[in-house]
Amino acid sequence: MNVLADRPRRLESYVGGVWTRGAKEGVALLDAATGAPVALIDSSGIDFAAALAYGREKAGPALRRMSFHERAAMLKALAQALMERKEEFYALSTATGATRSDSWIDIEGGIGTLFSYSSKGRRELPNTRVLVDGGVEALSRDDTFSAQHILTPLQGVAVHINAFNFPCWGMLEKLAPTLLAGMPAIVKPASQTAYLTELMVRRIVETGLLPEGAVQLICGSVGDLLDHVDGQDVVTFTGSAVTGRRLKTHPAIVENSVRFTMEADSLNAAVLGLDAGPGTEEFDLFVKEVAREMTAKAGQKCTAIRRVIAPRAHCDALITALDERLAKVALGNPADENVRMGPLASLGQRVEVRARIRDLGVDAEVVVGDPANPQVVSGDAEAGAFLNPILLYCGKPGAARSVHDVEVFGPVSTVMPYDAAEEAVELVKRGKGSLVTSVFTNDPDIAQELVIGMAPFHGRVLIGNRVSAKSSTGHGSPLPGLVHGGPGRAGGGEELGGMRGVKHYMQRTAVQGAPGLISAVTGRWIEGAPARADGEHPFRKSLAELQVGDQLVTATRTVTLEDIEHFANFTGDTFYAHMDEEAARANPFFDGRVAHGYLIVSFAAGLFVDPAPGPVLANYGVDNLRFLTPVYPGDVLQVRLTCKEINPRVNAEHGEVRWDCRVINQTGATVAQYDVLTMVAKTRG
Ligand code: NDP
Repeated sequence: MNVLADRPRRLESYVGGVWTRGAKEGVALLDAATGAPVALIDSSGIDFAAALAYGREKAGPALRRMSFHERAAMLKALAQALMERKEEFYALSTATGATRSDSWIDIEGGIGTLFSYSSKGRRELPNTRVLVDGGVEALSRDDTFSAQHILTPLQGVAVHINAFNFPCWGMLEKLAPTLLAGMPAIVKPASQTAYLTELMVRRIVETGLLPEGAVQLICGSVGDLLDHVDGQDVVTFTGSAVTGRRLKTHPAIVENSVRFTMEADSLNAAVLGLDAGPGTEEFDLFVKEVAREMTAKAGQKCTAIRRVIAPRAHCDALITALDERLAKVALGNPADENVRMGPLASLGQRVEVRARIRDLGVDAEVVVGDPANPQVVSGDAEAGAFLNPILLYCGKPGAARSVHDVEVFGPVSTVMPYDAAEEAVELVKRGKGSLVTSVFTNDPDIAQELVIGMAPFHGRVLIGNRVSAKSSTGHGSPLPGLVHGGPGRAGGGEELGGMRGVKHYMQRTAVQGAPGLISAVTGRWIEGAPARADGEHPFRKSLAELQVGDQLVTATRTVTLEDIEHFANFTGDTFYAHMDEEAARANPFFDGRVAHGYLIVSFAAGLFVDPAPGPVLANYGVDNLRFLTPVYPGDVLQVRLTCKEINPRVNAEHGEVRWDCRVINQTGATVAQYDVLTMVAKTRG
């Protein structure tokens, strides 16, 4: 396929395992910089109900047969395959108006999200098909009735309706958690830039790495697709608030309580701290960040800074500094390597942006740039959707409305003054909920007041100062490990956030019953579930031989005062509770000198460890360590160690084993409880 052929190509949708053209010739999609046709788009005639059914029946079961680690490995292989083909995506991305660095955010940022979910998935999730959520709820005194929350993948299809500004990242940031959760997806890119998404999906399908139907693609309208969604499906939407509201109230979505995530308009702000006047590093960083956010992707980023809130005394200096910086931004054809900012995505978007700048004119005046006369270094200023950065100033932001209401989706920001920190917070809140706001200050008190004041209105807040200047990922970058989404006007949705994002595609269920049966469901041993001691030390067993519930009850050990003193002098931990009888007695928790908690843990290891070389390779940590009863000289310790969870690693000779470790005293009281984490070889070899 020659994606840059002279004749515009008819885009195809990938549904039901085949590439399909719409019944009609289609609408032309134009190159943002040259106005030349790039592709034709149409989806008429596609059987959308069949596409949903295909995903549910074909891909869903195949994905659910895989474990979290297998799906994570699949994401990594996919990311590697796409990275190898990245130059092809860059070449086509120019037509969207993106410069090389804009495309990097979209293409490599998107692929990076796959990599990130792959490694986080393998690190943070067990290698199972069921996810345990939280601890066991003990519902009976005798451990015969308990409860455990679990998460299982929804059995429908995730329909991802994406925006035009990130044809690759927009798809991949949603696909990564969806596929890791075990759900198939139907991707519907915004028409304007769908040719790039189509190319990437072609390459994804060609790899053969995903189960058939795990990703389907609709280029063009989704027709009656939403009429057919049900309670096991998920719909996510990124785009305008108007469309989002319409889809959110679609009868099938309302009737079937379909999970709907929306990421819409956002009047993101950046606040310059009262301490950060001209001459400070924070002032310079602020200028740089605002200019970067205005010009990256020509301001067509959901996270871009729309409102620049600065101390009144510094506004003039700020506007002058921004003017100087923005003047250096060469606007032109993104294929030209001297160009720093490309055009908007389409001429239609330019018409829209100019109209919205006029709306802002009710409350603000243009102080930098001319919306009507683009100055370009290359390309045709009229045939391409070019627009230079436009800075406005609103002198009375408290009384203004448009600057807090109108999202201008282009290289446009408005500077507004404030006098006191609480006023800055009030102005930020006038955005009615945003994806992100940043605060530039080097003053801890200002940081605290501003961040706590505005946090309930945001999905993310970035604090910028001289210390983080070099390492900061910046205001505009949603990161795979951090939540992306915001309350209120921003849509009320939440994406990414590491494993939080995976759980959006899973159902949480409280399972109640006898511990043994709960353990059978989750694959994780819990208190009260059957345990086995077959005479062989469980540390002698390979991963293949070991079973959940294998248990060791150790010999006993008496703790002496000499032990405590030896440990204290040996380690240097001579805390009075271990060394001074009188002072220890005065402590409300102790009746005299007590053993160190870490001495108990060390003795426990001495009791349960099997010393000879064997399948257990290493102890890599403990989780949830708690000391529950004081240990006094003369107390007798014993350990019960039970194999709690087994996680074989994909493509490795070992896996992780989690052991429930309970240390008791001579009365049977639990003195310490924790999970011991070990690496164990798959075979005895
Ligand atoms: P839209 O809301 O029109 O489109 C967003 C997505 O929804 C596209 O994939 C679009 O498909 C799809 N869509 C539109 N109508 C329907 C429908 N009835 N049923 C199902 N899907 C539908 O936004 P635009 O992309 O046109 O952008 C318009 C404005 O939205 C921008 O100017 C900007 O202000 C804002 N925006 C905000 C973003 C943010 O993240 N904050 C991101 C992008 C845009 P199609 O393209 O085929 O119509």
